[in-house]
Amino acid sequence: MLGIKRGTKFIGLPWVEFVHTDDIAVAQKLLRRKVPASKPLALRLASRDGHEIEVEAFSASHGKGDGEVVIQARDLTARMSTGKLTREAADRRRAEGNLRLAAKVIETTNEAVLIADAKFRVTSVNPAFTEITGYQPDEVIGKKPTFHKALRKDKTLFTKMQEDMEKQGHWQGEFWNKRKSGEDYAQRLSISAITDETGKVQQYAALIGDITKRKQDEERIRYQANYDSLTELPNRTLFLDRLNFDLARMKRGQGKLGLMFIDLDGFKLVNDTLGHEVGDLLLQEAARRLSECVRRGDTIARLGGDEFTVIMPDLEDPRNGSMVAQRILDALAKPYVLDGHEAFVSASIGITVFPDDGDSASHLLRNADAAMYRAKDQGKANYQFFTVDLNEAVKERVVLKNSLIKARKGHEFALHYQPKLAIGSGQVTSVEALMRWNSRKLGAISPAKFIPIMEESGMAMEMGEWVIRTACTQYRKWRKEGLAPLRVAVNLSARQLREESFISVVERVLKQTGVDPKSLEIEITENMLMSDSTNIVVALDTLHDMGIHISMDDFGTGYSSLNHLRQFPIDTIKIDGAFVANIVSNTEEIEIIKAIITMGHSLNRRVAAEGVETEGQLSILKELGCDEVQGYYLCPPKPVGPLTEFLQEKTAGDMPKPGGQPGRAARRGKKAHIAEV
Ligand code: C2E
Ligand code: MG
Ligand code: MG
Repeated sequence: MLGIKRGTKFIGLPWVEFVHTDDIAVAQKLLRRKVPASKPLALRLASRDGHEIEVEAFSASHGKGDGEVVIQARDLTARMSTGKLTREAADRRRAEGNLRLAAKVIETTNEAVLIADAKFRVTSVNPAFTEITGYQPDEVIGKKPTFHKALRKDKTLFTKMQEDMEKQGHWQGEFWNKRKSGEDYAQRLSISAITDETGKVQQYAALIGDITKRKQDEERIRYQANYDSLTELPNRTLFLDRLNFDLARMKRGQGKLGLMFIDLDGFKLVNDTLGHEVGDLLLQEAARRLSECVRRGDTIARLGGDEFTVIMPDLEDPRNGSMVAQRILDALAKPYVLDGHEAFVSASIGITVFPDDGDSASHLLRNADAAMYRAKDQGKANYQFFTVDLNEAVKERVVLKNSLIKARKGHEFALHYQPKLAIGSGQVTSVEALMRWNSRKLGAISPAKFIPIMEESGMAMEMGEWVIRTACTQYRKWRKEGLAPLRVAVNLSARQLREESFISVVERVLKQTGVDPKSLEIEITENMLMSDSTNIVVALDTLHDMGIHISMDDFGTGYSSLNHLRQFPIDTIKIDGAFVANIVSNTEEIEIIKAIITMGHSLNRRVAAEGVETEGQLSILKELGCDEVQGYYLCPPKPVGPLTEFLQEKTAGDMPKPGGQPGRAARRGKKAHIAEV
């Protein structure tokens, strides 16, 4: 161990000669006290030829008489040999163990591992590689890795990879590739170069992770931020991006751009009568139809609700805008068959043109919106180009909406009443309550203007309840004042009939005001019934069973058919004033009214006509067999006071006077025509 050659003298040499100079202090400890074999000291000995030897030493015996010490030192290399291993062998074995562990990890990991030689040809792959890529080892070994081709396609990615490999021998990136089956998958690839001591590349190791799910999640999130999930059209965010992008492009190239706002007419009604699910189906179908009306480079977006928009960049001639608009109007107006229901909507479209009408996105948006409202005002189902005076109209609408919300609290509403008379007897059968808004700020505003805004602003239920309560209270008062029983009629919004609480609202009001349900009439429009929505059928049946009289208002303007009426508990059909208006000059209108009356009677319904303005109209209606009439000629809507007078006179006039004397009204020469009804 110490390299002492046989025959050389060493007895008598100082012990320090055999100890490494740095460890002499440690060695002295061995001499000074007993060091047990269980706790040996580590030190280095020095061999004769200058090698150092790592040993552990202990004092085997101490001081047998003359201070003799026996030190035993064990070569540490020798200790390893007690495990039958040399140090080298131990190292090798450790390395082999590590390799086996690595192999096990590589076998079982779910990341694909690929080893390639210095020429980048595959030498081995693990099972996860086959699982992810679909390629068996023998299909790839000896060839360039499959990701090589995919990487090459993306120039920037490929260059970056080359640079990184060159500089730091490592690269990581994410990209889409194809599995053997042809299916796309997203992979995260990291490649490391394995070099020898001289820095020469021996091998490459590549790790491939399948990150398709994560990518899909990311893409879904990005999609959700930019697209409307219902129609799959771009949403407002992406719309604004595209608009700004297209505007910048038009500015550079001096091109024109058309911006179109589309709002569906009657969509609210579909939603209110057929329910939201059917409403959603309609929006999806509308989106599909819209997509068929535009060019490739155009963007259609859904801004929310039933509002859509179309960006038309590179618009050579604004007249092309009207062509597209007309195509859209036609496409959207076709009937919708949704989940077994038939529904109809139309569209109102506003168009504005860059740079003629405005040069910023916000400016154009405002313009298109204003033009769209003009289209609504023009009777819907049409398109309008933006003109400068439109800004005023938009302002007015906003003012109206804000004032309406305030008016609710400020008691600016009132009811006027218009009687409906039996055509034979001239008796008042009912009085219709019509809402009036006398705004302190804006003056008197027509219901045709404010009722749609009221419905849009979600006030229909609240105001509707107010109307029923006020009308019933008034009726109760008339009765207390001694007026003969008749009916008081209120108009309903589609929303009210659909709302589940509506029935209980009616019941409560009737109870609180003490009005017999038989004295209440509700007027609904046929569009509210265009569905066979069970909610509405049930609501109507319940109201009818309570004894409430049900009238169908504005008949002939909507989409239902007389046959359709059979399913609903309708007591009276009210022919729309538009037919009555032309009745004298137009034989066609007469035929329509005749048909309505005949069919109405065959279904056992009463038929009324509204908007009667002349004696001529009245006599024709009488001849055709109409049951009831209403209109300016008979009596316009009046506030409570004057109407009370009218009712009193009417009642008095109707009463048979002894001796056949005419009634009070007739005597005074007022409302003389009423007696003739
Ligand atoms: P409507 O229920 O069909 O009422 C008839 C409309 O025709 C009333 O207009 C009435 O003033 C008007 N009118 C009556 N006689 C004649 C006539 O001889 N010739 C002409 N040209 N018109 C006549 P108004 O009061 O402006 O109401 C318009 C519409 O607003 C009503 O049509 C009704 O749909 C709605 N409305 C009114 N009050 C209410 C209400 O309290 N609730 C709801 N939901 N809607 C209401
Ligand atoms: Mg009415
Ligand atoms: Mg009407």
